[in-house]
Amino acid sequence: MLGVGRTATEVELKSAYRKLALQFHPDRNPNNPDAEEKFKEVSEAYAILADSEKRSVYDRYGHAGLGSAGQGVGFDSSVFQDFNDIFGEFFGFGDLFGGGGGRRRSRVQRGADLREDLTLEFEEAFFGTETQVTVRRHEACEDCRGSGAAPGKSPTTCRSCNGRGQVRYQQGFFSIARTCPTCQGTGSVITDPCTKCKGEGRILRQRTVDAKVPAGVEDGTRIRFAGAGEVGQFGGPAGDLYVVLHVKEHPFFEREGNDLRCVVPISVAQAAMGAEIRVPTMEGEHTLKVPEGTQPGTTFRIRNKGVPVLNGHGKGDLYVQARVQIPNRLSKRQRELLQELETTAKVDNHPMLRSLLGKVKDIFG
Ligand SMILES: [Zn+2]
Ligand SMILES: [Zn+2]
Repeated sequence: MLGVGRTATEVELKSAYRKLALQFHPDRNPNNPDAEEKFKEVSEAYAILADSEKRSVYDRYGHAGLGSAGQGVGFDSSVFQDFNDIFGEFFGFGDLFGGGGGRRRSRVQRGADLREDLTLEFEEAFFGTETQVTVRRHEACEDCRGSGAAPGKSPTTCRSCNGRGQVRYQQGFFSIARTCPTCQGTGSVITDPCTKCKGEGRILRQRTVDAKVPAGVEDGTRIRFAGAGEVGQFGGPAGDLYVVLHVKEHPFFEREGNDLRCVVPISVAQAAMGAEIRVPTMEGEHTLKVPEGTQPGTTFRIRNKGVPVLNGHGKGDLYVQARVQIPNRLSKRQRELLQELETTAKVDNHPMLRSLLGKVKDIFG
C-alpha cells in the first residue's frame, strides 16, 4: 500500500508515507471519498509499520496476524507526531480515528530573551570585572505568583471547549479540530483576574543585575546570563539575558586578538649602543633589552604580556616597536659630540648608499 518493500528502512517508510499522505490529504481533495478512503488506508498501513512491535507481527503473520494476536489495528496517534508539518493544527489524528484526546496547548510559555549593551574600560576587559547591568523586564507577579488569577482563585475550565483546548467541527467523515478561540487552546480561562497584574501574571520592572565579566573579553563579546531575561507567562521559565560588550580603546596599547602592540621611544645612543629600557605592560613595568645597532621600527616580542585568553589558559604577547627619537634641539656640547661621530662614522660609507649613488651615476652619466 505504501509502495515499499519488506526491507524498507524507517526513513524510507516515513518518506513513502509522507508522499502519499500529502497526495490524498482530505484538505487537498475536498469532497472526494476515494481520496479519503485511500488516506485512511495508507495512514493505517503506516501506523502499523511505524510501530516496531506491530511491524514484527505483520512481517511474520501478515495483516491477519494483527487481528488474531489480539493487537487490533488501533492507532497509536503518537507515530504521526513527526508529521505535524503536514497536518499542522488542523487535524488531530485522535479525531480522525476516533481515539485519543484533543491536544491542549499549555498556558505556560518561556519568557523572551533580552539584550543589553555594556561599555567597559580597556582594563576591565583585560582583567575581568564584576559590574551591574540595568534591565527592564517582566517578572512574576508576587500577588498571584504568576498565575494571573486573584489570590485564592485559580483559572477555571474553559466552557467553550470544556477544557480540551480545541473545538470541533463535523465535516463529512472527518471531525475537524480547531484551537479554541476563547482560551487560545489553553483549556482554561481566568475568571477572577489578579488586580495587581490584571491577569497577566507578570509585571514590568526595572532591575539591576549583577554581571560578572571574565578576563579577556573584547569589543562585541556577548555574555549570556541564563534565566535573567523575561519571566515566562503564567509561571513559565524565564528567558536569558544577553549582554553585548563594548570596550573602550586604550591610549597606549592597541589590541589584536590576544596580542597587544605599543610603540616606545628610544634615543639614538640607546639604539646604536644597545640598552635596557623600561617598557609599560598592563601588569606593570617590564625591562626590555634593546641590542646594539637597533634600527628604527624594530619590533620586539615580550611573551605572555598580552590579553588573557577568554575562558581559557595563557595570554597573548606584547609587541613593542622601537621608535628612535632624533633630537630636534642640540646643546653646543651635543653638537660637538655628534660632529665627532659624523667624522668617524660617515653615512656615505654605508654600502647601501654607495651602491645607490653608483646607480644614479649610471643613469645620469
Ligand atoms: Zn498577579
Ligand atoms: Zn477553550
